Amino acid sequence: MSDTSSPIDQTAAMLNEPVLVVKDLKTHFAVAAGSVKAVDGVSFSINRGRTLGIVGESGSGKTVLARSIMGLNVASNATTTGSVLYRGRELVGTPPKEMKELWGSEMAMVFQDPMTSLNPVVKVGRQLTEHMRAHLDYSKTEARHSAIELLRSVRIPEPEARFDNYPHEMSGGMRQRVCIAIALACGPMVLFADEPTTALDVTVQHQILNLMAQQQRDRHMTMILVTHDLGVVAGRADEIAVMYAGKVVEKAPTGPLFTNMRHPYTEALFRSIPKTSQAAHTRLAAIAGRPPDLIEPPQGCKFSPRCPYAQERCRDEEPELQIATDPGHAFACHFPVGTEENRRAYESNLAAGLPQTLAVAGRMQATEEVTG
Ligand code: SF4
Repeated sequence: MSDTSSPIDQTAAMLNEPVLVVKDLKTHFAVAAGSVKAVDGVSFSINRGRTLGIVGESGSGKTVLARSIMGLNVASNATTTGSVLYRGRELVGTPPKEMKELWGSEMAMVFQDPMTSLNPVVKVGRQLTEHMRAHLDYSKTEARHSAIELLRSVRIPEPEARFDNYPHEMSGGMRQRVCIAIALACGPMVLFADEPTTALDVTVQHQILNLMAQQQRDRHMTMILVTHDLGVVAGRADEIAVMYAGKVVEKAPTGPLFTNMRHPYTEALFRSIPKTSQAAHTRLAAIAGRPPDLIEPPQGCKFSPRCPYAQERCRDEEPELQIATDPGHAFACHFPVGTEENRRAYESNLAAGLPQTLAVAGRMQATEEVTG
């Protein structure tokens, strides 16, 4: 029977299609001292055309998570379990040879440092056309024409001339645009961007993020934006998952996460965003302590050694992800931010003279700064 639905209905149905469904994904690395639980039971799903921001400090597991979904953790000491369904197809356990068919044409990744992603001794045009010809049935002339159009679409000036440049003849921003062009070359359904702007200055950072957002809208791509910086995902991601010690500790649509954060680690990340209203030479807020040892993490809540609200219960019992009252919002904390229990926990720690690393008063100010 022919499909009689309107193009608008078809587009709406397409955008409701879950592209990735991740369930209880774990990636552990066997090392001499034990097992590093880099990703430890992550679940989420994301629809076509949506953007998920994955946020956390270095060592929180966000990059390993993205690489695990794409099947890029091929180290012999890595073990990935759980499930990653890509448009209904199970990827966990799929041999690398079969995964290679998906890389570029179905899923692509933009890495942090364009200088190490590009081959320094091959002209950028050839790097683009080789990638296209490996996945698409293009002649040399067709590939050249498409590559130049792609360079133009990512706003490389004079793309015909730049086609013959080596990476070192371009600026950092331009090189990252080339990496984006390579990632987009075969029309992937899912684009992973792992700290895509960390190596760039702030103005170029905005241009690159805007460019990726525009390309995503034009192509109805799903994007997973991995960053340590909550400011990068503010206003760009539809949803945010905050990771700590290999787990998602809070997940919510972007608006509610910024206005009604519940996990103390999310609050601490907010506070560490530099504020334009701060006087010059004001000391930047940092999260005290260090991310936990992932071989022998602390008992109970993994954030408890750094949390200003930690109580005995936190050190005994690991909190499960629980659903908040607002739709799509979940968090893993016994004394969530904004509750009476949280206020009492803070005051009892203060009275006990324990070092306080966060101030509740800083929360709303940080929220306003980020959400504008
Ligand atoms: Fe963890 Fe307790 Fe702090 Fe919540 S209040 S983050 S459960 S230590």
